[in-house]
Amino acid sequence: GFNCGIVGLPNVGKSTLFNALTKAGIGAENFPFCTIEPNSGVVAMPDMRLNILAEIVKPERVLPTTMEFVDIAGLVKGASKGEGLGNQFLANIRETDAIAHVVRCFEDDNIVHVANSVDPKRDIEIIDLELIFSDLDSIEKQLQRAQKQAKSGDKEAIASKDLLEKLQQHLTDGKPARSLLKDLTSDEKIKIKSFHLLTVKPVMYIANVAEDGFENNPHLDIVQAIAKEEGAVVVPICNKIEAEIAELDDGEEKDMFLAELGIEEPGLNRVIRAGYQLLNLQTYFTAGVKEVRAWTVKIGATAPQAAAVIHTDFEKGFIRAEVVAYDDFVQYKGEAGAKEAGKWRLEGKDYIVKDGDVMHFRFNV
Ligand code: GDP
Repeated sequence: GFNCGIVGLPNVGKSTLFNALTKAGIGAENFPFCTIEPNSGVVAMPDMRLNILAEIVKPERVLPTTMEFVDIAGLVKGASKGEGLGNQFLANIRETDAIAHVVRCFEDDNIVHVANSVDPKRDIEIIDLELIFSDLDSIEKQLQRAQKQAKSGDKEAIASKDLLEKLQQHLTDGKPARSLLKDLTSDEKIKIKSFHLLTVKPVMYIANVAEDGFENNPHLDIVQAIAKEEGAVVVPICNKIEAEIAELDDGEEKDMFLAELGIEEPGLNRVIRAGYQLLNLQTYFTAGVKEVRAWTVKIGATAPQAAAVIHTDFEKGFIRAEVVAYDDFVQYKGEAGAKEAGKWRLEGKDYIVKDGDVMHFRFNV
């Protein structure tokens, strides 16, 4: 699965967000084969298509696809120099696929700000700098090694050395590695992954606003402007309200509360979807009488790669995929109808999976 680390200065609303996500999340009992750490929450990817498929197929059970959020509390100024705990937080970030950076955009005199005032630009810079310092440290070590190896004329080592030097300059200018990606060759883009940098990970900003802070909020405007420059996403959300929504079970009471707020679904759903987009993910479905289920694959994945999400053996023994597009599956009320209408396809190993494909894999064991 894919995961997203929640970072931000203390007292910006990370735990409030994380708790809302875990409350709304899926209990560990549904995932007996994964270990779910206490600082991690697994949430269902909200997707109405799953319900519509279930109405057609009437399976024994319905399983959504999921996204994991990891609470990385305690990232503070000085963490990158940090002995002990500071380093531990950075190591936790290294394990994540993407970063959700919570930024305080609400005023509240009762809630202390670590730097005494609400100032999103400064806050973002503090966190960014810690990550940049940490990457610079790591680059320096890797560069020493690459420089030694490059002396022997080894082509790979020379390429590594050149890229590391380029990165070192870029980060020394105070810029994250992700903003260099667009200028790299495809070989360099592959190579940069092997450096395990923090600032190369895609970022979304979660602007934690007051209840009435979605409009005419200069703090939010600043976050939007920073994100625009970086090509990053902003999700404005009021974590305090999300925490209240998450307390309610699905049903009439919750629907009424959402209606009062004038929204159709919890704002958390926007966070989850943004995480999905950030990682270039899409969903395909399997729809049998036992189970209708959503699965996550990277956009651009081939049919065997999609099969591997279910089981690695499916990829190795892949023969063919039977595919019905989601719209056809719904229009012709299931596989049989789609087949009759000529909308059922057999696809080979080079097939590029499309969002919403209803798939069935044939494979050798
Ligand atoms: P963390 O240190 O970043 O994890 O921050 P917390 O989630 O613990 O929040 C710090 C304090 O801010 C708590 O007292 C929260 O109740 C409060 N808080 C969080 N989100 C909001 C919000 O949207 N509005 C207001 N007024 N307070 C909030």
